[in-house]
Amino acid sequence: MHPAGPEGALMVIARRLARADASVCLTGAGVSAESGIPTFRDAAKGLWSRFDPEQLASADGFRNNPDLVWRWYRDRVKAVQDAQPNPGHVALARLARSLDGFTTITQNVDDLHERAGSADVVHLHGRLTAYRCLECGTPVQLDLAQRLAAEPSVCAACAGLIRPGVVWFGELLDGGLWQRACAACQQAQVMLVVGTSGLVWPAAELPLLARRAGAHVVEVNPEDTELTGWADTCVRGRSGEVLPVLADQVERMVS
Ligand code: NAD
Ligand code: ZN
Repeated sequence: MHPAGPEGALMVIARRLARADASVCLTGAGVSAESGIPTFRDAAKGLWSRFDPEQLASADGFRNNPDLVWRWYRDRVKAVQDAQPNPGHVALARLARSLDGFTTITQNVDDLHERAGSADVVHLHGRLTAYRCLECGTPVQLDLAQRLAAEPSVCAACAGLIRPGVVWFGELLDGGLWQRACAACQQAQVMLVVGTSGLVWPAAELPLLARRAGAHVVEVNPEDTELTGWADTCVRGRSGEVLPVLADQVERMVS
């Protein structure tokens, strides 16, 4: 804890952000938790506890049981559609508007950052609704009825199954997005790491990369994580409560 308390610690971070030429934020499922979207751990109490995650989130799992996997994702699409961005998402969009050279990188596959006003977000793990053919890879636009149907659609080109555009177990990240994320972390003087457990690689490597390149790394999370030891400053709290205070302070400094 900073001697001046949480507000004082945020003031120091705000000052660093306001002075930086480049800064970056990495978000995880925790940033969407206050919108009612379960984190990985919360989900493990529900559907994930009854099914092997690799059965739900892998190309083999989809081939073996397409309807089960499709319905699991369909329910997530519906949950995201019914959810609203929370004050944490809004605060990150405000930071991106206030600061020069602020890059938002997310592991989330929802669109809540965009709906809160963030542009050009690097979606390392893809997006739920960026559908494509499992076999030939052709991108496909699905209408609402197709997105929420009980079974996956079929590719017009090759009759393969249409899959959600997320990165599954055993799949590589998009090389261009990964390069962009690495470059942003290496250039940043400040990195915010918000709502991620740091268990999923290679995303968890980004704060280490930033730190090695000289960035001041700030973790915002109610709990300790795998990344806590790498953070220069830890702010223990919910993103929807911490980030609006930070955004207020940054806005006062740069206006
Ligand atoms: P995770 O579920 O492993 O960890 C979530 C972290 O968020 C935890 O450290 C927890 O303490 C923290 N947290 C919980 N509530 C918070 C709050 N209000 N404010 C700040 N932090 C809070 O999530 P992860 O590290 O992103 O890894 C999970 C993987 O699952 C990712 O690859 C992601 O793509 C995927 N996933 C995505 C979503 C989504 O798109 N919303 C949801 C669940 C899982
Ligand atoms: Zn196809």
